[in-house]
Parts: sequence; C-alpha cells; structure tokens
Amino acid sequence: MSTLYPPASLWAATASPAPLSAEWPGDISTDVAIIGGGFTGLSAAVHLGETGVDTVLIEAGSLGYGGSGRNGGQAIPGLKYDPDDLEEMMGPELGPRLVREVGGGPELAFSLIDRYAMDCPTSRVGWIQPAHCPSAVETVTRRARQWAARGANIHTIDAAEVARLTGTRAYMGGLIDHRGGGLQPLSYARGLGHAAAGLGVRLFDNTRADRLSRANGRWTIDTPRGRITARAVVLATNAYTTGTLVPGLERTIVPIYSYQIATRPLTAEERASILPEGHVASDTRRLLRYYRFDSTGRLLMGGRAPFKEVPDMGDAPPLEAAIADLYPQLAGIEIDFVWSGRVGMTADHLPHLHVPEEGLFAAIGYNGRGVALGTVMGRQLARLAAGDPAEAAAFPITGIKPMRFHGFNRPVLEALIRYYRWRDDREARQVDRA
Ligand SMILES: Cc1cc2nc3c(=O)[nH]c(=O)nc-3n(C[C@H](O)[C@H](O)[C@H](O)COP(=O)(O)OP(=O)(O)OC[C@H]3O[C@@H](n4cnc5c(N)ncnc54)[C@H](O)[C@@H]3O)c2cc1C
Repeated sequence: MSTLYPPASLWAATASPAPLSAEWPGDISTDVAIIGGGFTGLSAAVHLGETGVDTVLIEAGSLGYGGSGRNGGQAIPGLKYDPDDLEEMMGPELGPRLVREVGGGPELAFSLIDRYAMDCPTSRVGWIQPAHCPSAVETVTRRARQWAARGANIHTIDAAEVARLTGTRAYMGGLIDHRGGGLQPLSYARGLGHAAAGLGVRLFDNTRADRLSRANGRWTIDTPRGRITARAVVLATNAYTTGTLVPGLERTIVPIYSYQIATRPLTAEERASILPEGHVASDTRRLLRYYRFDSTGRLLMGGRAPFKEVPDMGDAPPLEAAIADLYPQLAGIEIDFVWSGRVGMTADHLPHLHVPEEGLFAAIGYNGRGVALGTVMGRQLARLAAGDPAEAAAFPITGIKPMRFHGFNRPVLEALIRYYRWRDDREARQVDRA
C-alpha cells in the first residue's frame, strides 16, 4: 500500500521527519482507538498516553494529511465568538470554563512543543488582527477589552502601529494578542506523533477506518488491514469526515477550501518592513486574508479558495493580488508553492463535541480555527475517553444535527462568497492609505 501524503506544499517541503508507523500486528485490542491523525487526534493521543491509557491511532493518509498539515500555522486563542457572547450563550458555569479553555489554546500547543522538544519552528510574539474598516475597529476593540478583562495579554493598536508591525497601510487599526503566534503545522503534527509514540501510543498511518460498530460493550473498527476492538473510540476526522462511520456526521459541516501561496525567500531588505517583529496576522475581512513568514523567510498569503481539492499556479492570482495590495513593492514576486485544504464550517460557527453513543467521542467543525483549538479539543476528547464525566467538559456536548439541504449548500455558498468579497472590498476602500 502506498501512503497518502499531504499535497506538495511549503510545509511538506520543510517539515521535520514523521514518526515511523508501527508494524501492524494483526487484529488489535486496545482501551482507546483514535481515528484521524491531525491535531485533534494526535493531541488526544498524547494526553491519553500521558495518563497511561492503552491507545491506538489510525490515520487514512500520513499524519497531518488533512487540515493539520496544510494550514496557516497561526495559533489563535478563542473562537469566532467573543468571551461575553460565549458566556451568555453557555451560561454561568460552562461559559467561563469554555472561555478559559479556548483562550489557553496557543499556550497548550506551545507548551507541548517545549515539553516534547519538538523539531517545530515557532514564533511566539503574538497574533495581529488588523481591522479593514471602521466597524471592524469597533469589533476588535470590543474583543480586546473583553479578553483583557479576563487577564489576557491583548490590546488594541492604532493604524500607525498596525502599519509599523505589518508593513502595510491597508488597515484602520487592530489588536495584538500576545498569547498567539505561529508554528510549522506539519512539523507540529509530526511532533505530536513523536510525542505520542514515545508515550507508548501505537500509530498506524495509511490505515482507513471503513466501519464502526458496537457489540457487547466494545467498539469494533474495520480497516483494510484488519480489526481493532476498543472500549472507547475518538473520532477526529473533522473536515475529512465521510459518511461511512457515524451516520449524518459529515452533514453537520460544510467543507470549504482555504488555500495559500508562498513566495520565494525574501531578501533581508525586502523583509525589513514586513511583519518586522515576527507576528502572524489574519485580518477582519469576512473572507479573511491571513499572512506570515515561515522560518525560511518566505511570505505566505492565505484566503478562501476555489472549490477544488488540488489548486495549481493558475489559482494563485487572487492571492498574488492580495500580496500586491498589501505590499505593492512585492507585486509580481515569484511564487514557489500553492496548496489548499478543507475547513469544516458549522451552521452555528461553534466547534461541535458529540457523544452519540456510550464510549464514542467526536469533535468536528472548527470554522478555520483549529491549530490551538484542535490541540485543546484533543485534550478534551482524551479526558472524556479516559472516563471524565461529561458534566466536567469545557465544551457543550450536543446532538448530531445534519444540516437540511446539505447538498444544495455549495452553490449558495459560492454566491455568498462572491457577495462577501464585494462587501469586503467596498468596506476596505474607506481606508486612507496616505
Ligand atoms: C488552508 C488552511 C489554512 C488554515 N489556517 C489555519 C490557521 O492559520 N490557524 C488555525 O487555527 N486554523 C487554520 N486552519 C484550520 C485547521 O487546519 C483545522 O481546523 C485543523 O487542522 C483541524 O484538525 P483536525 O485534527 O481536527 O482535523 P484534520 O487535520 O483535518 O485531520 C483529520 C484526519 O482524519 C483523517 N481521516 C478521515 N477519515 C478517516 C478514516 N475513515 N480513517 C482514518 N483517518 C481518517 C484524514 O486523513 C485527516 O488526516 C486552516 C485550514 C486550512 C485547510
């Protein structure tokens, strides 16, 4: 069997080596089986390994094959909703617990990188969210105030400071959240794999779960290589979920594509004024632009992608235009990589945690914010699979509710994306770049 690797990308070209897949021993009996080798599944594996629970992880491709090996590597605290909204939605007990948990996501990821001495480049000076129009300035001001009231190291910055820290005058203000930062996502996924393997977790890549069933209090996973039986199963297939394992789960999200380009390494002179202090940035547009440097000095630009699995250089122009818009001095710069991945969007913009049956735990739908959140959610799944009571969970446990008219969502989504782009551009014209 040939292994399914993530597509060619900057991350695939520069990642640290993957851990070796364990040798398949024939049918396996274990305490916990994890399906999916992205941040969620791998973080669950590490946290189960740390508590000594006998754990097996299977991944259909190679570790990091899904969103985890392809993303922007921006570790961002929180969810799409701000803390006050989350607390109001979730109530006085769960609300503050959820806010604390998601606010601590980047710290958890960076602490795992340190604890297991992962070979994973990071930049930890903070995440900037530049505001593209006046109402976005109000949004980031509110956001910064709410997090700061909870003790987070975050503050607003004016247009001049955004220009100094990003190198573009395209924004009216913004926030800087010192909890956030950047990492090499495929190296992080592989680093989690090494850590889990070191803790005794057996990792099998190239092993697809085809069927999930339960009898006599044990779960059985059928794979092309053989069977796994387990007391508990963690399902961490996220935007790469298919309809085969848990009925309806794949219809609880709309998988959309996000893509990135990476330039050739910039010269020191070209770099000097762009993100000079090493921040990562993702702006407030509805179709956000996210950008940063990698450790080889390439500028990455990401945004909403065409609906296709593997983009090519013919798809690069919209992101090249975004680079030229923010950094006119780089117009026409050579692009070395273009790649994409799936993002799982939920109707309520919240990540979903499900316990559909006894001993089955699933998380799905991070709405494009899964670097820190996947790490945190993996720990949450590990706790549940190890036997923690559901009432202690930091995320709401909800029922699986497939979206109605799921198949019709794509044309609607494409129309919505065109509309959002038009509104973003119109709003951004209010910025005085002089
Ligand atoms: C281009 C892009 C840019 C992004 N940028 C950012 C960013 O900068 N910051 C941020 O916070 N988030 C970002 N995200 C989102 C983030 O990447 C995801 O939310 C996160 O990686 C999800 O991790 P996961 O482990 O839950 O899922 P995934 O990493 O997608 O892992 C799921 C895995 O399950 C496997 N699988 C599926 N079915 C089976 C099966 N039947 N048997 C075995 N294995 C199976 C898949 O092969 C896959 O590897 C981005 C996403 C994309 C695509």
